[in-house]
Amino acid sequence: MSEAHSSEPRLRHDPPDIPGYQMEDRPAIPIKKLNLLSFPLALPFGVLFYLIGLLLQPDREVILTFSIWSMLILALIVLLLVPIAHEAVHGIVAKLAGAKPFYGVGPGYAYTSFEEPISPRNYMLITAAPLLVLSAICVILFALIPGWFLFILAFAVTNAAGAIGDLWILNRIRHLPSDALIYDLADGYAAFVPEKL
Ligand SMILES: [Zn+2]
Repeated sequence: MSEAHSSEPRLRHDPPDIPGYQMEDRPAIPIKKLNLLSFPLALPFGVLFYLIGLLLQPDREVILTFSIWSMLILALIVLLLVPIAHEAVHGIVAKLAGAKPFYGVGPGYAYTSFEEPISPRNYMLITAAPLLVLSAICVILFALIPGWFLFILAFAVTNAAGAIGDLWILNRIRHLPSDALIYDLADGYAAFVPEKL
């Protein structure tokens, strides 16, 4: 943060009022349930990315070698690289949408948030971006660096399965009218619609 006297942005727990708007939806993401669901979800994503990766290997075959180093790199990918890249993509798209993103870490998860109210379309773009962008990059990397098959696969699967909360949000906000405004909150979001006269 460069502006010394501006107050630090903080995760909102309650949305402020917007004059002329009424609250339409204020869901809390069932994060514990979704975290549990992300493990079985890794299986279909694993099969999908494995097959895509396999098709993109020069000889249509995968050489998997395990060593203590590759295990260490896998752990770094799953625990560090994926959360950082995932939240960075949320943040970059939030910035492009005109918000001022900030980042944090909670118990068992990392987050990106912002204080500005934004349109459902922009909220959907910010929410969907890590799954779409990072999956696309992984597919390109499968073809470019065949020797990294296992690492790219681990990255793609962790990112996709970890996006289950994002998928939950996408499924929910698609019902909002386009003139709605959304506040990002600590445990979900609040959606406001123009007051009906
Ligand atoms: Zn996400």
